[in-house]
Amino acid sequence: MFYGAFILKKSDLSLVITEMNNKLECPLWHGEVNCIRRFYELPKETRPNTKDCIFFSSHEPCSLCLSAITWSGFDNFYYLFGHEDTRDSFEMPHDLKIMKEVFNCEPGSYNKKNFYWKCYSLKDMIKNCIEDENERKEIQERINKISKKYEEMFQIMKNYDSFKFSYL
Ligand SMILES: [Zn+2]
Repeated sequence: MFYGAFILKKSDLSLVITEMNNKLECPLWHGEVNCIRRFYELPKETRPNTKDCIFFSSHEPCSLCLSAITWSGFDNFYYLFGHEDTRDSFEMPHDLKIMKEVFNCEPGSYNKKNFYWKCYSLKDMIKNCIEDENERKEIQERINKISKKYEEMFQIMKNYDSFKFSYL
């Protein structure tokens, strides 16, 4: 309900499509997968090549979504909240747990640069790439506001039974 993704054109950063998760309809409709599904529902004539797109996810993709992004042919993705944020702030340890249990993969140890794609943490980029301190603070402040909104939504949603059971 509040995991989302969007796809932009690399050429002009225009929005191609955005979607959010819908686990109540199907447990596979994570934000990223649902966004990719909608992307492929666009008419082929107007749909850009995945190699010409930027893929952005609100949360670091889980193993399902990592595979979906890979199989779809995107050569990049960016995310705001990391797996640890998802575990700690949203009480959802499943991404890391599945990585460990199924793939024997410790937190953060999957290949963030590989044959298929490179991925980027927005928070790391802000920390490491923005030299102007004021600009960095300003962006950080915006991210803090987004984080606060997510926290508020989480507090509301966790009281709904349907949310509790939309976990694994
Ligand atoms: Zn996922």
